[in-house]
Amino acid sequence: GAPLAGRVAVVTGGASGIGYALAEGLGQRGAAVLVADLRGAEAAAARLRDAGIAAAGIDADVASESDTAAMVAAAEREFGGLDILVNNAGIYATLTPQPFERLDIAEWRRVLDVNVIGVFLCCRAALPAMRRRGGGRVINISSGVAFKGNPYMAHYVASKGAVVSLTRALATEMGRDKVLVNSVAPGFTLSDGVHRNPALVAGVKEPSLRGRVLARDMVPADLVGAACFFAGPDAAFVTGQTLVVDGGAYYH
Ligand code: NAD
Repeated sequence: GAPLAGRVAVVTGGASGIGYALAEGLGQRGAAVLVADLRGAEAAAARLRDAGIAAAGIDADVASESDTAAMVAAAEREFGGLDILVNNAGIYATLTPQPFERLDIAEWRRVLDVNVIGVFLCCRAALPAMRRRGGGRVINISSGVAFKGNPYMAHYVASKGAVVSLTRALATEMGRDKVLVNSVAPGFTLSDGVHRNPALVAGVKEPSLRGRVLARDMVPADLVGAACFFAGPDAAFVTGQTLVVDGGAYYH
């Protein structure tokens, strides 16, 4: 049967790219899905419903305390609870690679606000709801760059390293409530956002492809298996871990 039947998932940044693919993958495995995004959440939910998935959408900024509270309330109102939180919203595809000396301090702060504090705020909002269900799963989307570094995106690399550490820290605390916290670290993925950024495609696509054991472009669907593993019954004794999914890369 469907391994996630009866489960309710929230996917942040789920209107686009990797988040949409994860929402679809969770839905195909039986979960009801609330898509949360700055924009386009309801349209994405409508697409999921057309594919036979129980889905709803909400406009939410993960860096806003009140929005994250409203997001969790919406999951409980629409679907009766919350079991799975995918912290996928992040600033990446809109960034322009540049030397660290030229990075704008306001951009630094917004990257940390969304990519790091956003994960904290969503987990904090979700915990009481997961407690009411007797447990839950959190899947944080970090990045392969957390382990390899890469030039010209120091703020982003630092933020994704923080997501790996935050995953470990939250796992130690949320485990008390039977909430398992893990992370998926993607390599360079041709998401919707990346496709819209010519500088990223020009600068990163070819080197990432050359650096991969599996020599093809990586697409959002390549991340579905790892995320659904952490969300499902097979990961019942796994927490605090980060799984790198990058086709065997040494460059990113
Ligand atoms: P994308 O631009 O296609 O999708 C990102 C989505 O997040 C968008 O719909 C955007 O509106 C939403 N979002 C951004 N800020 C938000 C906020 N404050 N609150 C709510 N939603 C917000 O990008 P993507 O490539 O699919 O990236 C998804 C995640 O995967 C990000 O965390 C990114 O850092 C991570 N990631 C991407 C790659 C890659 O190569 N594409 C590699 C590693 C990790």
